[in-house]
Amino acid sequence: MSSGDLALDGGAPVRTTPFPTVNNASGRTLGAEELEALRRVIASGQLNSTIGGETRALEREFADYYSVAHAVASTSGTAALHLAVAAVNPEPGDEIITTPITDAGTVLPILMQNAVPVFADVDPVTGNLDVESVRARITSRTRAIMVVHLFGSPAPVASLRALADEHGLMLIEDCAQAYLTRCPDGRLAGTVGHIGCFSLQQSKHITAGDGGLCITDDAALARRMRLFADKGWPRDTDERTHLFLSVNYRMTELQAAVARAQLPKLAGVVADRRAGAERLSKALAPLAGITPPPDHGGMSYWQYPIIIDPDQAGGTCHDYAKALAAEGIPANGGYLTRPVYRTPVLAERQTYGTSGYPLCVPPAREVPSYDEGICPVAESLIAKRLLVIAWNERYTAADVDDIATAITKVHRAFTA
Ligand SMILES: *Cc1c(COP(=O)(O)O)cnc(C)c1O
Repeated sequence: MSSGDLALDGGAPVRTTPFPTVNNASGRTLGAEELEALRRVIASGQLNSTIGGETRALEREFADYYSVAHAVASTSGTAALHLAVAAVNPEPGDEIITTPITDAGTVLPILMQNAVPVFADVDPVTGNLDVESVRARITSRTRAIMVVHLFGSPAPVASLRALADEHGLMLIEDCAQAYLTRCPDGRLAGTVGHIGCFSLQQSKHITAGDGGLCITDDAALARRMRLFADKGWPRDTDERTHLFLSVNYRMTELQAAVARAQLPKLAGVVADRRAGAERLSKALAPLAGITPPPDHGGMSYWQYPIIIDPDQAGGTCHDYAKALAAEGIPANGGYLTRPVYRTPVLAERQTYGTSGYPLCVPPAREVPSYDEGICPVAESLIAKRLLVIAWNERYTAADVDDIATAITKVHRAFTA
């Protein structure tokens, strides 16, 4: 058996030792600084953010980091996005346009606030929202656009902001995968829309286990988000009162202390991810039917996405993912099992009891279609074309070279 034989067919795998991973300490930047931060909070006896100073300090530091006026902390990225939708304050049945290729955390908050998610299609190479598709989905009921910078690749937010302004809509940026992502015009992702939302979940560039942050320059939006995360309780007054329907999404002081220790490490994490990605993109350039992520220097590589042209590359993204996994490479075909609109919560309207609310008339303008075929580009990416390589700041040049070797090996076998 030659060393060129695929591991899938019984050949020797390219790689037999594990890669650094976000699932344990091998691929995280957690260390002495975070331990000291936790010790400090425990010693203070102040674990709640309405009493201690860590969460307020994190908010100040994160706002300064992004050169914006306000940051509001919460319990998760999903919670941060919920804060943003709550700040939009849609009428029941109002519509928010978003992307079908994202974590459910982008879409569930729209439903939680009784608004209707409307899905626009995506760009065939980046998987990010397509501006013309968004434009075509705007109706008299549209209130906001929720855009995702997928895998850390900058979405066309300058154009989306212009479109939003033209129609009096809010633009919310989901930056859960996009810390320090830079747009082609030099602005940071999260600062172009009205609100930017970030996640501190285990798998993101920096983590506190879970946690969320919203940024905005708008004081009124910041205040509404802060109230929504704290039972509508205006703690800047003496009154124990509750101004509107809200939840408790308060970050704990333990989370905030860890996040404060993580923040100074963020720039290094992104720089190291970029250096590794640049090396891989160079190595993949000669392979027909394999398109590395387009990058003008602003991508932050939450993952490393590759577009596979099955006709030229000799297999689908799923064929590649299976063969690469056998070679010892952490790869995933399609990212999602299905577009978000095909998950039961939407496709079967599993919302409040058996009502289907708000995906019914009233309050909706019409019962939204979440049928197969509404976003054909997104569907073909998930079914055939989107290959995702797990990425990490701790990858060495040798790690990256193993990934390149394995992809080249699989490509050679598939196109032989
Ligand atoms: C992770 C993620 C979320 C949700 O964040 P959680 O902290 O897991 O709630 C939302 N949107 C995107 C694009 C994500 O990657």
